[in-house]
Amino acid sequence: MSAPEPPPTDPFLDFFPTHERHADAVARLLALLGPLDPDGDGPFGGRRARERDERDEFVADAVDAFRRAGLFEVVVPPADGGLADLPLIYQAGGLLSSRDLSVAIALGVVALATFPLRLAGTRDQRAHWFGRVRAGDLAAVGFSEWAHGSDLAANATTARRVSDAPDAPYRLDGEKSLINNGTEAAFALVIARTGERVPETDPDARRLNAATQSFFVIDLRSDGVRPVPRFKTHGVRGADISGFRLDGVLVPPDRRVGSEGQGFRIGRRTLEISRGGVSGFAAGQAVLALRLGCRHARERRLYGGPIVALEPVIAALVRAYVEVEVMSALALKTAHVGMYAPLSSRDLTCCAKLHVPDAAFRTIADLGLVLGARGYLRDRPFERLVRDARLLPIFDGTAHIQEGEVVAAAARPAPPGAAVAARDPIASIRAYRTAWRPDADLLRADKLDWPLGRAVEVAALHAACPDLGLAPLAAGRRVLERLLERALAGAPVTALDGTDRGRLASLAARTSAVAALGERAAFDLAGGGAGAVPEARRAALRRAAAGAGLEALALAAALAPEAADSIVDPEDRRSVLAGAADARAPAVEGPLRAAVRAFDAAPERQNLRNRDAPAP
Ligand SMILES: Cc1cc2nc3c(=O)[nH]c(=O)nc-3n(C[C@H](O)[C@H](O)[C@H](O)COP(=O)(O)OP(=O)(O)OC[C@H]3O[C@@H](n4cnc5c(N)ncnc54)[C@H](O)[C@@H]3O)c2cc1C
Repeated sequence: MSAPEPPPTDPFLDFFPTHERHADAVARLLALLGPLDPDGDGPFGGRRARERDERDEFVADAVDAFRRAGLFEVVVPPADGGLADLPLIYQAGGLLSSRDLSVAIALGVVALATFPLRLAGTRDQRAHWFGRVRAGDLAAVGFSEWAHGSDLAANATTARRVSDAPDAPYRLDGEKSLINNGTEAAFALVIARTGERVPETDPDARRLNAATQSFFVIDLRSDGVRPVPRFKTHGVRGADISGFRLDGVLVPPDRRVGSEGQGFRIGRRTLEISRGGVSGFAAGQAVLALRLGCRHARERRLYGGPIVALEPVIAALVRAYVEVEVMSALALKTAHVGMYAPLSSRDLTCCAKLHVPDAAFRTIADLGLVLGARGYLRDRPFERLVRDARLLPIFDGTAHIQEGEVVAAAARPAPPGAAVAARDPIASIRAYRTAWRPDADLLRADKLDWPLGRAVEVAALHAACPDLGLAPLAAGRRVLERLLERALAGAPVTALDGTDRGRLASLAARTSAVAALGERAAFDLAGGGAGAVPEARRAALRRAAAGAGLEALALAAALAPEAADSIVDPEDRRSVLAGAADARAPAVEGPLRAAVRAFDAAPERQNLRNRDAPAP
């Protein structure tokens, strides 16, 4: 094992800040949150989170503290005088959810509400509504209706002009539920139908009904708005999950966002961008679970020593550590791609939305076992994590929906810029960082394109950084591509058997996640991070790359037993198996175990090391 070095502790503190004000905002946020203390009493402490959860109490104290600290500017776009680039939003989301997911989603939905305005709002609309956000108004987003759920095109809320006069208001009627901040929010972005609804018996109903949806911003204190009472939820009990009824609410035309009929497209775009942020929430929860698992393993004594000495316990902690690294790398990459190429980032945001909540949930369950009965008791911090984490695969497009998107994305040819990455992937990552302009709203200016093609990205990284141990991942990726080619054979994704689709999608999303960790390590190597890859991160990458390769081999054997030999090249098989053997070697295990032991003890700010680093 090589020389000791500070392990990556909380990967959310290890996000590279995109600009000086970003680093300042994170420092202010950390000062407000205080240390990650599962027993803390402040509004962001674990004890308060448990109290609110137990009483179904809205997280008003935490929202107030956030407001008083002037941190709502974290969700206002830079072009409007705020700080809201996506890496900062994700990082803030991760840090908040490592304290309490209810707080994270109450504040996170304010960021979500800004996206339709960023995509299609006028200058005046932005000035007015972002001004209200900066002043601390909570916002909501009303996509969902009880009867229609994921089928947004079928939504029935109507918006009809009251007369033909050009300044005639719209009259909105309908009900939105379940809506986060549905009662507490001061305003909401809602989707409503400005044209006639086509009956579902019409074969073209979906397309036609989507084309008559429009977006509005509504003041929730207007006449005719009535709250839908809060739902009693399984988790996130500190959040306000409710809704609102609109009975003849008059909305002036300057509160329509975008043109009539553009609502569905704006909504889809919004979700394609925002769903990636759920990965930040999920990874933040896994960070808290790991902290609790490590602490318990150190403190709980059995058979005359701490349980961290028991092999299955340390193995579970090591697995969790690796997964947290992978999750946060994908969240980080998704945030950066989303910032520089938001409108073309959808191939990655679906992977992040599918993989990270699932990985976080499994990690939390795994760590729950380390806590034994103490992970099951209501007056302890752990069990809330299990309930809260169940939400993340549901909203912003369910995991089932993401499966279809991931398979379609993985089957699309690599984007044209891939050749650039093949030459120098690290340079291209750098280029994105330097291209950030604080005065631009990149959600609008979709000028840059993310050049890292999926297959090429892994191969290029491997070529650039052979010692990172990415060969098994690259081999697994080739197996996956052959499987996809074979499974689809020119047919649309919807033609796939549901189980096959799910298995292919989860492998594709995981492969993207591990590649993201590879990029992060390569970026570190190139001097963009600390100038070296922390030993524990390198070990986590080797483990994860070998795991993804093995999963690809297993899937090939399961899905196409008769053709597995033609799908799996002998060299690839060798590379995956050798990588797996290597990943179990003491050279990999040692740093991981050391990192896990240090995780709980390390000072929280240790990895804010980039704070004062000069821009590249
Ligand atoms: C705590 C919480 C907060 C929420 N906050 C908000 C909010 O702020 N704003 C808002 O607008 N909504 C919000 N929602 C609603 C949420 O977005 C919906 O619950 C979600 O869209 C799924 O709808 P549904 O529950 O009606 O399930 P359904 O749409 O009825 O789905 C039922 C099943 O069908 C599957 N399915 C549906 N469509 C497809 C498809 N195309 N392909 C494959 N499988 C599919 C689903 O995965 C699921 O298994 C919230 C929900 C919760 C629980």
